Amino acid sequence: MDFPQLEPDGKLPDRNQPTPRKLAMKKLFKGILDFQSEDFEAHRELFKDLKSSQNPHTLFIGCCDSRVVPTLITKTNPGDLYVVRNVANIVPPYHLRDHFIGSVSAIEYAVMGLKVESIVICGHSNCGGCYALNESPESLKYMPNLLNWLDIIREVPERVSQLMKGDSAAEREWITEEVNILVQMENILSYPYVRERVESGSLKVMGWYYIIETGEIYNFNDDTGHFELVE
Ligand SMILES: [Zn+2]
Repeated sequence: MDFPQLEPDGKLPDRNQPTPRKLAMKKLFKGILDFQSEDFEAHRELFKDLKSSQNPHTLFIGCCDSRVVPTLITKTNPGDLYVVRNVANIVPPYHLRDHFIGSVSAIEYAVMGLKVESIVICGHSNCGGCYALNESPESLKYMPNLLNWLDIIREVPERVSQLMKGDSAAEREWITEEVNILVQMENILSYPYVRERVESGSLKVMGWYYIIETGEIYNFNDDTGHFELVE
């Protein structure tokens, strides 16, 4: 049995005051009903078309971060994007497939099964996963699985150091986020079926850098070697 936590002043909590957990649940359930009466109604035909199959054109690999919402930032509809999200938008190199089978199997299905035409690897500003790369592993010891996951991209900080012009934390942050995207663009080409399709021209891999506070997206240009604002 759970006993109620006392308030800081030693009194019992007021039963009439909603707790943060109850407020979150209320918000979620209200959201479901609002979706059904508004968004679903507005796209009723689309959902009917999607009833028994999907034909997404793009595999979107993004971070789990709550502020990065793939369909919102691309203004796409249900059925357009096949989405893989994990901490720091990582693509495990192909030879690690036995260890990180969740992300790898989704990539396999998107490319081999759904035959997507493009893959977007989308990093973002203020990424906690990238930030953690620059912290000591000791500080993350209480999250051993996260530590294990971030080990996939341990090469990133070293590459960042070579690119830094100054030594500010802000510069390290955004360069880490951009280099991380480039590393994932390299990793995705270690998948033989991805490389094959990219070389034959039937699949395009893009690297995007999304800025949370402006809504801007910078697309990596292979020819110039820079992230360029999509405009
Ligand atoms: Zn992130």
